[in-house]
Amino acid sequence: MDSDELEAFQQELTCSICMNCFLDPVTIDCGHSFCRPCLSLCWEEGQTPRSCPECRGISERPDFKTNTALKRLASLARQARADHVHHSEEQICETHQEARGLFCEADQTLLCRPCSERPEHAAHSHSPIHRAAEESREKFLKRMGSLWKKREEMQLILNQEAKKAWSFKKYVALRKVMIKFEYQRRHPLLQEEEKLHLDALKKEAKEICLQLKESVFRMTQQRESLKQMYRKLTEMCHKPDTELLQVRNICFRTNLAYMQNPQPVNPELTCWPVTGILDMLNNFRVDNVLTQTTIHHVSLDDASVMSGDDPHGLSRQFDGGESFVAWGAQAFTSGRHYWELDVTHFSNWILGVTKDILTSDTIIRINYEEAFLLFSEKVNDQHSLFTNSPPLVQFVKRPLGRIGVFLDYDNGAVSFYDVSRGSLIYSFLPSSFSCPLKPFLCLKSP
Ligand SMILES: [Zn+2]
Ligand SMILES: [Zn+2]
Ligand SMILES: [Zn+2]
Ligand SMILES: [Zn+2]
Repeated sequence: MDSDELEAFQQELTCSICMNCFLDPVTIDCGHSFCRPCLSLCWEEGQTPRSCPECRGISERPDFKTNTALKRLASLARQARADHVHHSEEQICETHQEARGLFCEADQTLLCRPCSERPEHAAHSHSPIHRAAEESREKFLKRMGSLWKKREEMQLILNQEAKKAWSFKKYVALRKVMIKFEYQRRHPLLQEEEKLHLDALKKEAKEICLQLKESVFRMTQQRESLKQMYRKLTEMCHKPDTELLQVRNICFRTNLAYMQNPQPVNPELTCWPVTGILDMLNNFRVDNVLTQTTIHHVSLDDASVMSGDDPHGLSRQFDGGESFVAWGAQAFTSGRHYWELDVTHFSNWILGVTKDILTSDTIIRINYEEAFLLFSEKVNDQHSLFTNSPPLVQFVKRPLGRIGVFLDYDNGAVSFYDVSRGSLIYSFLPSSFSCPLKPFLCLKSP
């Protein structure tokens, strides 16, 4: 191949993003090809639709297989270029006046053939420079693949953390309203306690907001570090063979420090006790409200709505698998009623009141729309507490033991209490009920 032909050959194998010979080339929907790392960095912000950097054609898929034919050709082009510049001064052995064409893995040095035959190299394996460099590139690419995956995972955690910070702020505002409501309707004389309660909430919420903000900042920084590392490795792979072989070890070492995932913040507000709350609730006590019991599969209508607005990425623990289910044969249509349920030995449960419980031979269905429910779910060792309509994560300490349910039918309110702490978990604020409501409990084995 003369130098014009070589030029043309290399031109065809040049990535238009980095202007280097293709590295792990992929061909996208429009037919254009790029180095995978170049394309990954180009598309990293996840902008949609993904468009070709060359012709702006839209690519439907985010993932592409390596174009292996192009990859082999690119390797040949790199070799041809290396052969062209190979015989420059520093690549000639001064002792033997021969080109240093071999790489010694053990000593990490370049050698000429006579040097490689010396006794001190007898036990080593020596390979031609280009092959050794290509092998290094492959190792780097593998490393880069996991680095990029890590970066994507980090992005997901980061998105969740940012969303959590946003929902937490909204939740705190709602919780203030709830606490005021609780004191208003129950204890008009406890103004001092109400104030202390609200102040404590404000202080605690401020602290958690700060933690979340720092966490988002830390994750953003780590994501950027991973990207920088990826970029650095990409540049490394594009270096000429001899240079790559001499600096590659530094890169492998620096890499590892970034592989630790950051821990997301788990915001949990303290539920402060409300003086005399249980005495008051016990005035409305009803016992044995759950008269119907069965072991069944439970299906929640509208479950998609739940997961759609769910900052913790909760899975649907209750869909699939059998649960212990209990409900009241008698529905309430007026008055005030209070009962307690024990969830001591369970991580996954649902309780509250609901209009309809539809049973068939295999499944029990609950309509989300006409139910006021508190859920506890354990996913990946983390407990989440949330309520339905609208789906809302409860950023409070999980109740252990007994939970009190108070149905104030006349005023259209449903509230949940942590019995052992004597505190409010959550209140569905007053609305008007249009249907009879039945007590409901579902327990899933831990
Ligand atoms: Zn490129
Ligand atoms: Zn294109
Ligand atoms: Zn030599
Ligand atoms: Zn050697």
